[in-house]
Amino acid sequence: MKPYQPDRSLPAKIARRMTRWSVAHPLPATPEHTKICFTFDDFPKSAADTGAEILDEVGARGCFYACTGMVGTKNQTGELFDAHDLRRLAAAGHEIGAHTETHLDCARTGTAEVLADIDTNIARLAALGHTLPVTQFAWPYGETRASLKPKLTSRFMAARGVLPGANVQGSDLMQLSAYELDETESSIARAADAIEKAAASPALLFIFTHDVREKHSAWGTTPAHLRRLVRLARDTGAEIVTPSVALASIRAKEVA
Ligand SMILES: [Zn+2]
Repeated sequence: MKPYQPDRSLPAKIARRMTRWSVAHPLPATPEHTKICFTFDDFPKSAADTGAEILDEVGARGCFYACTGMVGTKNQTGELFDAHDLRRLAAAGHEIGAHTETHLDCARTGTAEVLADIDTNIARLAALGHTLPVTQFAWPYGETRASLKPKLTSRFMAARGVLPGANVQGSDLMQLSAYELDETESSIARAADAIEKAAASPALLFIFTHDVREKHSAWGTTPAHLRRLVRLARDTGAEIVTPSVALASIRAKEVA
């Protein structure tokens, strides 16, 4: 993951805006009741342990986007997941999503290379014992391209980005908005505000972070912050579900 920094130049910023406007696969409907997906990227063991426990406390399930090149390694977010974590989470009803093999910047990599990297990611998840279908994806760094997003529609039900916002009818399933929880208090306040607003105006919300521990990285949060947001989500009456459960429900309604 970090400390790699995606391109922050003006042309890159403009391209990023054009990419977001270019909807590859619109969300077919706005949910009648707010659904909130708590998700973890890369993902550290502290997310698999403490993050999952905090969701379990309220009977909720989350999604863990696995970058398979990080299996058994360690970085600023702490120790990363292993095969045991995959099995334990899946057995408990949490969802495992794809997040590439090498955590590459998909905005700066050729399409064939990105797709091959995703294929490796899926194959390695299976080799690690995760045999359930992998229908969710998260773009590393949130980076993608307008020409690349449509290539994932046949592979994944949805792909999550990192730009803040509530997802409603017409939002891009191939670049869903999400609220990041990082080291700043403002990121926690922003997510809390979005959860409260969604109580009055239904939406599909994604929250994401990395490590969940007292001494977290710049890209992680404390157990207390995560617990506060999970309980706030529950108290507003939102459904806290995995992305696949949320999207299946939205699609079923569309068909019905
Ligand atoms: Zn990542």
